[in-house]
Amino acid sequence: MKIAILSRKENLYSTARLIEAAEARNHQADVIDTMRCYMNITSSQPTIHYKGKELAVYDAVIPRIGASVTFYGAAVVRQLEMMGVYCVNDSVAITRGRDKLRSLQLLSKKGIGLPITGFAHALDEIQDLIKMVGGPPLVIKFLEGTQGIGVVLVETSKAARSVLEAFLGLKVNIMVQEYIKEAGGADIRCFVVGGVVVAAMKRQAKSPEEFRSNLHRGGIATPADITEEEKNMAVRAAHIIGLNVAGVDIVRSNRGPLIMEVNASPGLEGIEKTTGIDVATKIIELIEKNAKN
Ligand code: ADP
Ligand code: MG
Repeated sequence: MKIAILSRKENLYSTARLIEAAEARNHQADVIDTMRCYMNITSSQPTIHYKGKELAVYDAVIPRIGASVTFYGAAVVRQLEMMGVYCVNDSVAITRGRDKLRSLQLLSKKGIGLPITGFAHALDEIQDLIKMVGGPPLVIKFLEGTQGIGVVLVETSKAARSVLEAFLGLKVNIMVQEYIKEAGGADIRCFVVGGVVVAAMKRQAKSPEEFRSNLHRGGIATPADITEEEKNMAVRAAHIIGLNVAGVDIVRSNRGPLIMEVNASPGLEGIEKTTGIDVATKIIELIEKNAKN
């Protein structure tokens, strides 16, 4: 098959591994720089042009859309869908996954366990907002942050108030969340491919002062044994968001597992190096099962 990997660079670990896995199974894999695609949406025959020419016909696309280019990236994926190309994750699911509030709303509607979460726009009722989510300590986060940036732990009502005032004053979208202290700075990344958890790792924050487990924040990963409940939860969460490939993050709380977030373009490096599982090949196998040659 001819597979396109939408990615900004071919030397990124995830991109390079997907090419390797595709070629090992006798497919052609090309890296297409998402941001250099341009689209013709006026005609009844939707097309994409790339580097001055019409984009070749592909059987399948693996979108690897970075957080900073969600809007344009989703438009390119949408165009490919209109052209009838099988997209591993579709544009709607990618957009949903990127918006933490929207994802949590969809998950809550289906009864998935979540940390108590508040969202507000106006500054007037901050005290009630803080009370609504159970009071401090609280986590305040940017809606569109990634890699732990824009996630702040506040210990007191006074601090929560100041941080909320500062963020809301800057007109950024934020949410306020119950702090799951008993998670101990750890979470579980479940890598879901085609409705199955193919690999799981535990990420532990680098020091007791740090509560964010992100590998980009120095978190340390080890292979994780997960329960059936966690497995089912991860698969359900990916399904609700509509993602065939997802990185579902679970925190272990006193009241059971809770979903922290669902990532639409989860990195392969951490999960493959930690677990030794060939996740890239699982993604190629998903394409073989679903794309029309
Ligand atoms: P990002 O998209 O930047 O990764 P997350 O919401 O996943 O943002 O938060 C980053 C990390 O911070 C999580 O992996 C988790 O370790 C920690 N964290 C976030 N929210 C909470 C919370 N409510 N309680 C405990 N830890 C949290
Ligand atoms: Mg995260």
